[in-house]
Amino acid sequence: MFVSYVLPVYNEQDGIQRFHDELVAALAERPDITYELVYVNDGSADGSLSILRDLAKNDPQVQVIDFARNFGHQIAITAGIDQATGDAVIIMDTDLQDPPKVSLELIEAWREGAEIVHARRRTRKDTFFKRITAHAFYRMLRSAAEVDIPLDTGDFRLLDRKVADELRKFRERGRFVRGIVASLGFRQTEVLFDRDERFAGETKYPLRKMARLAIDGVTGFSTMPLRLITRLGVVVLLLSLLGIAYAVGMRIFRPDITVSGWTMTMVVTLFLGGTQMLSLGVLGSYIGRTYTEAQARPLYIVRQVIRHDGD
Ligand code: UDP
Ligand code: MG
Repeated sequence: MFVSYVLPVYNEQDGIQRFHDELVAALAERPDITYELVYVNDGSADGSLSILRDLAKNDPQVQVIDFARNFGHQIAITAGIDQATGDAVIIMDTDLQDPPKVSLELIEAWREGAEIVHARRRTRKDTFFKRITAHAFYRMLRSAAEVDIPLDTGDFRLLDRKVADELRKFRERGRFVRGIVASLGFRQTEVLFDRDERFAGETKYPLRKMARLAIDGVTGFSTMPLRLITRLGVVVLLLSLLGIAYAVGMRIFRPDITVSGWTMTMVVTLFLGGTQMLSLGVLGSYIGRTYTEAQARPLYIVRQVIRHDGD
């Protein structure tokens, strides 16, 4: 049984060797599993590439897809899955937050018949801010999205060959891989694990990237924000009608004080302006998404694939 590991790397020079050693050590305890390690260098600006190059040189089981620039984590794992040939594909982070040993448990669950195995975080050692935002995000997404996205799972999971082949047919740019996987169906199970601290370096997911992932998650799997606009519009319309009735009524019955309507004018103008801007923003995010998908540019550009034999 042949398992592919898809391993995205972005500026992980201080941790990558240690990660690799731990993963290989974990796999060495299971000689029945043959494997390939597909590292994806997502345009690292540090020494990660030369470390990966050495790994590939010394080990025929390692190959490195070297991106021409940084395309982001979701695209990196997509490229890895495109390249992987195993009977099962495991996606995991390379900062040791996803413990290599847990991947063996995923393989166990796969052998017992599961086609998708999610690694779900029982606990996580991240900053308070990250824990709070992640917690809120997973719950918000679950209520908004039209597919059942499992709670507290990132991209650490195992996919059967059948699932990986289906996943490869999804070529959208604004990718939220875990949402696509959840929408595929198949027999899904989860394995609980305790998420470790990052071994070295800092998170490569600053708030900006997290927000973008969250927006891709929501807009990719739900049109709820668009429906909310309609509801908002109805509420605003009702309020406006009340305001109009009030203004007209005052004009007819109390013409002596109608000039004093400044506050009313300001409130209505600001309120309508605000809701309109908000609605435009929501529309804009869907239109932008349609635009980038319509361009249908390649998802990523590979400089070279580095293998043991040096091709
Ligand atoms: N990563 C990547 N490209 C990026 C950002 C991150 O390939 O643009 C990789 C990174 O090297 C790591 C994984 O994606 O292996 C998860 O990133 P990180 O650990 O920074 O995210 P966090 O665990 O903080 O959510
Ligand atoms: Mg991490």
